[in-house]
Amino acid sequence: MLSKIIHEEEIQKAKKYIEKAESFALVIHSAPDGDAIGSALGLFHFLMELGKDKVSVIAPNDFPAYYKWLDGAKDIVTYDKYPDFAERLIQEAEIIFCLDFNEPKRVGKLASTLVAADGRKIMIDHHLNPEMFCRITISQPDMSSTSEMVFRFICRLGMYELINKQASEAIYMGMMTDTGSFTFNSNHPEVYTIIGELIKKGIDKDAIYRNVYQVYSEYRLRMMGFALYEKMKVYPKHRAALIAISQPELKRFKYTTGDTEGFVNLPLSIKGIEFAALIREDLDFVKVSLRSVGDFPCNLFASTYFNGGGHKNASGGEFYGPINDAVAAFEKGLEEFNPQMKNNN
Ligand code: 5GP
Ligand code: MN
Repeated sequence: MLSKIIHEEEIQKAKKYIEKAESFALVIHSAPDGDAIGSALGLFHFLMELGKDKVSVIAPNDFPAYYKWLDGAKDIVTYDKYPDFAERLIQEAEIIFCLDFNEPKRVGKLASTLVAADGRKIMIDHHLNPEMFCRITISQPDMSSTSEMVFRFICRLGMYELINKQASEAIYMGMMTDTGSFTFNSNHPEVYTIIGELIKKGIDKDAIYRNVYQVYSEYRLRMMGFALYEKMKVYPKHRAALIAISQPELKRFKYTTGDTEGFVNLPLSIKGIEFAALIREDLDFVKVSLRSVGDFPCNLFASTYFNGGGHKNASGGEFYGPINDAVAAFEKGLEEFNPQMKNNN
């Protein structure tokens, strides 16, 4: 039996909304990660089992190929490709789920449509300090993932039976990717109770791991080698490391979405390194990813220097300007945060 982490009042209210409605829009954040995709498809399959047939998942932009094997992934509507259709689905939905994000800004160009939409909004998320733009805000920063919360949410609706194999695969995939395959944010014993339940639903967890982590291209692996050998800068005094990759370098290795996934974690395997960053020159802006072990607050660093946010140990942001300036901002941050790093350790 799982403990009742979501408030009863929120469950009862959400239950009434769901029972009455026919059309649902499940909205996820820009550059969707495994948890965004997993939580949305978990909820999608559940709503279909419940007999709702107007259910769509809407993403601001595309997501990596290694999440596309999931049932329903190919039907996700991306705003980048179909802007009018994506907007209409949100405008016409009676219920809008906001999954794996805590502020409208995280859906990029869809933000104004989302805020203005008349549908009843329900947030399910695990990021700190949610903005209050939804009728129901289910926010649990201590949860491993939004996907775990979707599982708990459905159970609390009393509809565990309606979690099918496809939903279970999606939920497991989200939990696995948001915990680095259960190596962080994963000490709650009930995480493993839930995994047990998902296995009973018929998932092959080992196959899910292979589908996500063992399907990269040769180019991606060579780019990883290049990034580690030639691009990684270590700052021993700050117990930090940075990998910065420019647009020409990405082109050299035929970069496609998702190819640098996981790079940011690599320097953390060096003894004594507690803070790592990946700075990648995308087409519209420079993307910054930050990771830490222990108490170093990546989210504070991201909000101070890169207009971003996230979790204490995993956060990110964007930088508008030349990549070298982003690197300089990172190094300035290291100097300014250094005393804090010492205090925290
Ligand atoms: P990643 O480095 O994998 O892109 O993102 C890690 C985490 O940082 C995400 O789950 C999200 O919480 C947060 N994050 C990433 N990029 C941004 C951003 O641009 N703004 C905010 N507020 N959070 C971000
Ligand atoms: Mn998440």
